[in-house]
Amino acid sequence: MPKHPWQNALKRLFPEILLDEPMSRYTSFHIGGPADAFLTVHKGGDLERLYAFARDHHVKVTPFGWGSNVLVLDGGVRGVVLRLGGPYARVRFSAEGLVWAGAAVRLPRLVVACAGKGLAGTEPLVGIPGTVGGALVMNAGTREREIGDIVSSVDLFDIEALEPRRLGAAEVRFAYRSSTLDGTLVLGGTLALKAGDRVDIMDRVRRFQKRRLETQPIHTFNVGSTFKNPPGRFAAALIEAAGLKGLAHGGARISPMHANFIENFNGARAADVLALVEAARTAVRAGEGIELELEMKTLGEAASRQA
Ligand SMILES: Cc1cc2nc3c(=O)[nH]c(=O)nc-3n(C[C@H](O)[C@H](O)[C@H](O)COP(=O)(O)OP(=O)(O)OC[C@H]3O[C@@H](n4cnc5c(N)ncnc54)[C@H](O)[C@@H]3O)c2cc1C
Repeated sequence: MPKHPWQNALKRLFPEILLDEPMSRYTSFHIGGPADAFLTVHKGGDLERLYAFARDHHVKVTPFGWGSNVLVLDGGVRGVVLRLGGPYARVRFSAEGLVWAGAAVRLPRLVVACAGKGLAGTEPLVGIPGTVGGALVMNAGTREREIGDIVSSVDLFDIEALEPRRLGAAEVRFAYRSSTLDGTLVLGGTLALKAGDRVDIMDRVRRFQKRRLETQPIHTFNVGSTFKNPPGRFAAALIEAAGLKGLAHGGARISPMHANFIENFNGARAADVLALVEAARTAVRAGEGIELELEMKTLGEAASRQA
């Protein structure tokens, strides 16, 4: 039974919408309570209808990508969780090394498509499992390259005007795992790449992928780095030095392979992950006087005590 009257009204507008949908189905952590509504939008007109409805009914809309950088809390997400599909899952190449990728395109697919066209620049991003939308918002990247380094323009949905809008690279600020795109709805982005030799590019892609396989627990349920690296230090080394590698709480543990990853190894709840976050912060603060800052995002609300 839907809890809010607006849920049924929205279902009439979008019959395919999922109500009270467990978010654990959509996160790489396999954790998360129910979203009041979960909608995948396949055409531009639907965004106008959704955001007009949300404005009129005072319902929050939360954009969502591949769920590979979010801890959805056990009480779930109020309002609508929005995922993009259809035209936003396309990649288009144009002259002079420009590639437009919809927000729903996943980075590994984009990297391989660019390599296939003999375009260099995205290779270090190959092991990042999220979407272009999530990557632009997070300024996802590695030591070698952040996506913000190669952005030429970003397409947004203007929530006030209910229409798409293009921002030039100079209108967006990218910083370490953050950008001024947070809080907007990103529809896609254009990247500026350089022509190169296809075989060399593919070689680099394979090398980046191999390094990741050797150093990160990528076959477990996780969201990549839990914390940002403090200036000049590595969060993983600080947590490991505090003796917390392998520490478990409920069904979650600090990865025995990489101390800045938390793994859901046995039906963990978000509360288990947060307990480990707190343990790591407390230990690193006590040992080194360093305050660890979260890289993963939290979404939604904690479960009530009765839940
Ligand atoms: C095994 C593993 C390895 C990883 N390695 C890396 C790494 O090396 N470097 C790195 O930077 N990250 C890494 N990550 C984290 C993650 O993949 C990236 O942050 C990725 O860019 C998140 O994209 P997503 O689509 O999953 O976003 P989500 O997790 O779905 O969302 C992340 C944030 O972006 C917002 N968002 C998503 N889509 C949109 C949109 N279209 N418009 C507006 N807001 C949006 C969400 O509201 C949320 O706040 C890793 C994750 C895993 C699981």
